Amino acid sequence: MKITRSTFDESMFPCYNPLDFVITSAKGALVYDDSGDKYIDLSSGIAVNSLGHCPEIIAKTLKKQSHRLLHCSNVFANRYTLELARLLTHKSGFERVFFVNSGAEANEAALKLARRYAFDNSGAEKDEIISFEHGFHGRTFFTVSVGGQDKYSQGFGPRPGAITHLPYNDLAALETAVSAKTCAIMVEPVQGEGGLIPAQPQFLQAIHTLAKKHQALVIFDEVQTGNGRCGSLYAWEQYGIRPDILTTAKGLGGGLPIGAVLTSTAIASHFCPGTHGSTFGGNPLICACALEVLKKISTEKFLAGVKARACILHEGLNHIKEHCGMFSEVRGLGLLQGAVLTEEYANQAGQIQRYLAGWGVLVLTAGTNVLRFAPPLNIKKSQLKKALALIEQGLLDYKKIKQI
Ligand SMILES: *Cc1c(COP(=O)(O)O)cnc(C)c1O
Repeated sequence: MKITRSTFDESMFPCYNPLDFVITSAKGALVYDDSGDKYIDLSSGIAVNSLGHCPEIIAKTLKKQSHRLLHCSNVFANRYTLELARLLTHKSGFERVFFVNSGAEANEAALKLARRYAFDNSGAEKDEIISFEHGFHGRTFFTVSVGGQDKYSQGFGPRPGAITHLPYNDLAALETAVSAKTCAIMVEPVQGEGGLIPAQPQFLQAIHTLAKKHQALVIFDEVQTGNGRCGSLYAWEQYGIRPDILTTAKGLGGGLPIGAVLTSTAIASHFCPGTHGSTFGGNPLICACALEVLKKISTEKFLAGVKARACILHEGLNHIKEHCGMFSEVRGLGLLQGAVLTEEYANQAGQIQRYLAGWGVLVLTAGTNVLRFAPPLNIKKSQLKKALALIEQGLLDYKKIKQI
């Protein structure tokens, strides 16, 4: 079958605008396209391929599990989902887990759980969800409404109500807004899609304190920051503020679709048979693979390796900032870093992303003004340094072309 980049435009919903090549294979931090070009991948399928592309452990587990049990639904318990549940609750320090297939579904479940918890404990009036401008929580109608980008939820009819958006890292706004009506505060410890903005410690502390005072639940959306991405298994550990509910997805399956909602036994008890569910959530094939991913990424040694790579990335980007003069700031946490473009290059993130692919490096954007870097957590240090060198050369070249 003849497949080219045009096949996308002819066959797919025009929801995306992929770069001008077709990927055919990938291994570790390297990606190959159909003309044989090679790229160093600092995108990891949007912070998903935590162990790089096609890691041996996943290939091996997929093969083994495909002969044992692929799917059986949650009508029946199976060994593989329960093994992951045991390890994930143990490693994260939460008592209960609910498995889903994506980040949006994890957040959807968390928001429903928070509403139900408040409904059961305090009645229907306690329904307000507080979230933050530029926050991103997924694309279901509830999660996109809780997310802080108006344009993502407009034009789809009446939105779910009782959602208040506040400026991120704004203590005064928070203090004014949280009340007895608040049932949950949903926040990303580092805003990912919103531009790689880390929460200030006092901000998360205030969320925690105010939520406690008003009997609201704190939900950390760690879909992107979780699973070792920021240098600890979950980012909250670095802030020392444990949420009531934690959601995660992206990196947990090492390239396979899985999400999770983690919480206490007391909170989880507000979901019972009939209140929520999923056909594929906790699928044994994916859980068997996620178990192997989690075993690897949750060790001290592995996380120390993430931190070491994060230093190389952060310092490398700062060096490029000094040298190329195209970044106004480098920010983020761990192996989730953003480079904010200067005024002169405002709105060119997409164009620069394409240009850098031409130089053999895949990067992400976060909005139109920020380049986002999320390499595999185990990327070879030499590959990371090579990619940074290519980015520097590529950006200097881009600058030259722009000046002509
Ligand atoms: C990617 C992301 C989501 C949505 O995850 P999907 O798997 O695309 O549904 C939600 N929250 C955050 C913080 C994310 O980065």
